[in-house]
Amino acid sequence: MKLDNSVFIITGASSGIGKATALKLAKNNVSVVLTARREEKLEKLKDEIERNGGKALVVTADVTKKEDFEKVVSKTLEEYKTINGIINNAGLMPLSYIKNLKTDEWETMVDVNIKGVLNGVAAILPTLIKNKGGHIVNISSTAAYKYFPGGAVYCATKAAVKMFSEGLRQELAPKYGINVTSIEPGAVSTELLDTITDKEILEKMSVMKEMTTLESEDIADAIYYAITQPERVNINDVYIMPSEQQ
Ligand code: NDP
Repeated sequence: MKLDNSVFIITGASSGIGKATALKLAKNNVSVVLTARREEKLEKLKDEIERNGGKALVVTADVTKKEDFEKVVSKTLEEYKTINGIINNAGLMPLSYIKNLKTDEWETMVDVNIKGVLNGVAAILPTLIKNKGGHIVNISSTAAYKYFPGGAVYCATKAAVKMFSEGLRQELAPKYGINVTSIEPGAVSTELLDTITDKEILEKMSVMKEMTTLESEDIADAIYYAITQPERVNINDVYIMPSEQQ
């Protein structure tokens, strides 16, 4: 199998989509590097993976810090000797109306959702180029295409991730054999809404909570599909909506 004995770094592995992806890949013989800021959650996940016969390494990191990513890469190479890919998944969605000027939250979204992805790519690219292959998966969103109330900055960050992914693919896939995929989920039931502080948005959230959303495992399955294709196949985008979402 293509993924046997491969090594993937997963950012935002402490919950939601990142956690489900780590479990899915580990179950399929990938050595996973679990990274996020909440160490306790990562250690619990590592225990679960190892109990099921998988391999996992925990390296805490804040994706906004380049030096943290350097630590992730050096510890990964120390432990597993190589890196075959990264799932740039860490992200935040503190939705707010622009008029409420939650500028600190705008900045955090730009730092985590965009710069976090750039930092992840920069950290592992020398290894992938040396290996003449690998896979970069960036978690964008259907928000890259569709604005929704309170989502102006979030949607902009996800559109940036989508377009960056296409640039990466064009520069890396033909020349270096590094495939690139942008995953664009609709609503998934995770902790993502917990960072919202804008009261006007919170009052409207009940509508979203009534809908049957996607599960994190649905996205993990899509990621698995993208990275298990033959090397000649680059899955550029996977756009996935819950059946009930408009
Ligand atoms: P969660 O809130 O469950 O997970 C977010 C993850 O990001 C956590 O593991 C968190 O870990 C990590 N994270 C946040 N900030 C940082 C940081 N500065 N450094 C390192 N890690 C960080 O949400 P989801 O699983 O839903 O989100 C995963 C991705 O999916 C995000 O990029 C999100 O935008 C995207 N997405 C989600 C959708 C949804 O409806 N849920 C829809 C479309 C896209 P920790 O706090 O431990 O650092």
